[in-house]
Parts: sequence; C-alpha cells; structure tokens
Amino acid sequence: MRNLAQRVANTEASGIRRIFDLAANLANPVDLSIGQPDFDVPDPLKEKAAEAMRAGKNAYTPTQGGRELRSKLLAGPFKGYGESQLLVTGAVSGGLLLSYMALLNAGDEILIPDPYFVMYKQLAYMLDAVPVVYDTYPEWRLDAAKIDALVTPRTKAIVLGSPSNPTGVVYSGAELRALAEVVKKHDLIVIADDIYEFYCYDGPLARIRDFCPEHTLSLGGFSKSHAMTGWRVGWAVGPEALIQAMTKFQQFSFVCAPTPLQIAAAAAIDFDMSDAIATYKVKRDIVYQGLVDAGYDLVKPGGAFYIFAKTPWGTGTEFVEECIRNNLLVIPGGCFSDRDTHFRIAYCNTDDVLRQGVDILASLKNKR
Ligand code: PLP
Repeated sequence: MRNLAQRVANTEASGIRRIFDLAANLANPVDLSIGQPDFDVPDPLKEKAAEAMRAGKNAYTPTQGGRELRSKLLAGPFKGYGESQLLVTGAVSGGLLLSYMALLNAGDEILIPDPYFVMYKQLAYMLDAVPVVYDTYPEWRLDAAKIDALVTPRTKAIVLGSPSNPTGVVYSGAELRALAEVVKKHDLIVIADDIYEFYCYDGPLARIRDFCPEHTLSLGGFSKSHAMTGWRVGWAVGPEALIQAMTKFQQFSFVCAPTPLQIAAAAAIDFDMSDAIATYKVKRDIVYQGLVDAGYDLVKPGGAFYIFAKTPWGTGTEFVEECIRNNLLVIPGGCFSDRDTHFRIAYCNTDDVLRQGVDILASLKNKR
C-alpha cells in the first residue's frame, strides 16, 4: 500500500509470532514461552480497582498521573525526587516509547546490549533512529570499555535492563559504576528498564540510578511484580527536562494511564508480593539445575524469570522447531539477538510443568 510510511517496512515483525503460529495446533503444549507470572493479581487489589470504578473514579487523571499513585511513589521508592521528575505511564512500554521520542532524532544512535528485549531495537526503527547493538555473549556481562568504543557524536542513550529479559543477568555494582563513568563522560542518558527489579534472587540489586542519577531515566511498573500485565500502569522517574518532554508527548498520545487501575496500583505499592516472588527463585533453580544435569551450556541467571541457554545443536530456530514437534514451546534466541544460537525459556509455570519441560529438553540434547 503506497500510503504506509517507510518506518513500517523498517520495523521487523516480532519473530515470536511465527513461533506461536507453528505451535498453534498443539493441543496442550508445555508452554515456557510467555513472560508473565503464573499467579494472578491479588484479590484485595482487584477489589481496590472495582471500588474505584464504583466510586466513579473513571474519568481522566492529569497527564502526569493521579494523586494517589504519585504520592505513594514519591513518598516511597522515589523519596528525594521532585514532583516534576515523575510521570505515571502506560506501563514500561509506554515509558519506553515516550523516552525514545523525547531523546532520539532521526539518525541518532541508541546503544543496546545484545541479547535484548524485542522493543528496544524496533522502537528505534519506528522513530528512524539507529540501534547500535553491543554484543554481550557468552556471559552477558557489561564491559564499559567496549561500550565507550561504540559511542559516536550521534549517540544519545543506552537502554538496559537488570535483571534482563531474555538472559536474566543482573549487573554488579562494579559494572554499573564503570558504565556510569562512560555515560557521564559522553553526556548520555541511561534508560533503565527496571520492570524485573523485584525478581532478584542472589543478593541486593545494584541500580544505575545510584551511580549517575542525573543521567538515568528509571522505568518501572506493576506488570511483572503484581501480575498486572493487562492493567498498563507504570512510571518514569528521571531528569526533569526529560520527564517534562515525555509528559508533553503523553498529553498528545496516551493521555493518562487507566484511572481506577492507577488507584489500585497505588495500593499495590504497599502490598507484599515476596511470597509469590520467592516461588520464582525455586522455579529458577529447578530449570537451571535440570539443564545443567542434562549437559546444557548456560549461565545461571540472577533474576527476572528467563533462562537463555545455548542450543545443543542447530540454530535457535531449528532447535525450537524440534522442541515444538515434541510439544515444548520455547523461543529461539534470534528473536532477542542478532545471533540465533540460543533459546529462551520463560519459567512462568507450575513446578510440574517446568519439570516436564526439562525432561523434554534432556531428551532432545543429543538428538542430532
Ligand atoms: N521491558 C521488558 C524487559 C519486558 O520484558 C517487558 C514485558 O515483557 C516490558 C518491558 C513491557 O512491560 P509493560 O507491561 O510494563 O509494558
């Protein structure tokens, strides 16, 4: 169609969809493909949302977000930040789009560690910007000197998640401190995707915003911590000029995050999810140990709910096609990387299903 913009062709459709098409006729697959918690939103929080709707809190909030959620965020996790440094967003995806729009001119570069979350690269294409990938194989560590070498006069930002989707890597304080030096030297912005911040299993989480607060935009939300993936509520916190630019664009696009769900999300800030999240450390250990015992080559992930393992044979796509023929749904590494040598497991399922998945993978290890 001649009317479509060039950026439509520049942006690649998600490879994950092709895998779902392949799996469409599996009746009851062992599904380790979807990155969302296997628990539901806690009932008291659903009740808060229903109460808000019944109380008539169904109109727009101000663009920057409703009072309930804003005051909870500024009194709690973002104490010390000013009102003008916070925007309530349509979850992290909304914050990512607005931040790219506010930072990147056509032709500007954004650094992205590879493997990456699918949106990081495609959003750059959607805005005619240039994603510059930084290879972190085989252990997914950050090397500030290598990142430094990739910076050009067009580089504006670096986007990263810790814990990460798809690798589960958690960056150390030393790695982030070294990165902060590079960021300050070149006056870059770090877009810190903190969506998995509560899923950190082996010690306290180091945060880039503690090393270079003036250069960090923190994006977070409730999708993974409270299983509110369909509620579309999150936040952006960072330098005032950037937050105000994002607020301007939100005014002309998303308008505001859903009002009753913002109110329920405010209650979620005080709602303890640690028992539900602790089950994910057990799940990580079941899958990690099972794959180690089966002879797979993988790095132990420190957080999120993913394992990114090397295929024992074939490309990621070839191996995943064989998994699907054996009733197991996982995602080829090529959906998250410029290479296709690995596959991603999302261990968001019951422990029994995880063990079935590990058994299938063990049986496929030497199939070729
Ligand atoms: N960032 C990462 C790394 C994710 O894995 C996801 C969802 O899978 C998102 C952002 C999107 O999250 P949200 O539901 O908050 O838009």
